[in-house]
Amino acid sequence: MTRRIGSGTLVIATHNAGKLKEISALLEPYGVKCISAGSLGLPEPAETGTTFVQNALIKARAAAEASGLVALADDSGLSVDALDGRPGVYTADWAERQWFEGDPGRDWFMAMGKVEGMLRQKGADVDRSCAFHCVLALAWPDGEQAVYEGIAPGTLTWPPRGTMGFGYDPVFVPASRQKTFAELDPEEKHAISHRADAFAKLVAEQFG
Ligand code: IMP
Repeated sequence: MTRRIGSGTLVIATHNAGKLKEISALLEPYGVKCISAGSLGLPEPAETGTTFVQNALIKARAAAEASGLVALADDSGLSVDALDGRPGVYTADWAERQWFEGDPGRDWFMAMGKVEGMLRQKGADVDRSCAFHCVLALAWPDGEQAVYEGIAPGTLTWPPRGTMGFGYDPVFVPASRQKTFAELDPEEKHAISHRADAFAKLVAEQFG
């Protein structure tokens, strides 16, 4: 049987205030108090894994070992079937404007264009299937761990449509919908997203 978090303090292995807020709100109803690895001054480990599961575990393990508390980390991204699962764990990296000196940050339009360009090289009738993945990893300081994998299958469209959401949302049409994630209301996206799927699995096992 999987070990349970119970109602204690959970370290969220992120330095992103938005992620902390979103995860805290999801776990608050279960009596879990969340603090971020950033606020504890914990270092961010290098994400050297080649899968979402490996990277989520690297982040959760590092936070649990450094804090002595149970830690939760997430890792997410887009996998395109015709590109052998790319960009995968490099989803955010493909938006990095590293070659424009003095212009740091991420350019999501560039990243979406890169995916589209690679797909087009495969021909007009290329399979446009893809999926967003989200892995949540829990790690205990004594080495125990648990992993929950969420998925949102869909297809890629071009040109990008919609102004909501973030990242690759404007080119992602979730299965059984016509609209992109960026055209859906946030509540509608959150009901069918890869993150919602992973959280539902975590909540069912940890608090069910
Ligand atoms: P990370 O999990 O914070 O490393 O982020 C991985 C990257 O995947 C993000 O920067 C986004 O580009 C992409 N991604 C993850 N979830 C979504 C989503 O719901 N919509 C659009 N892009 C996403």
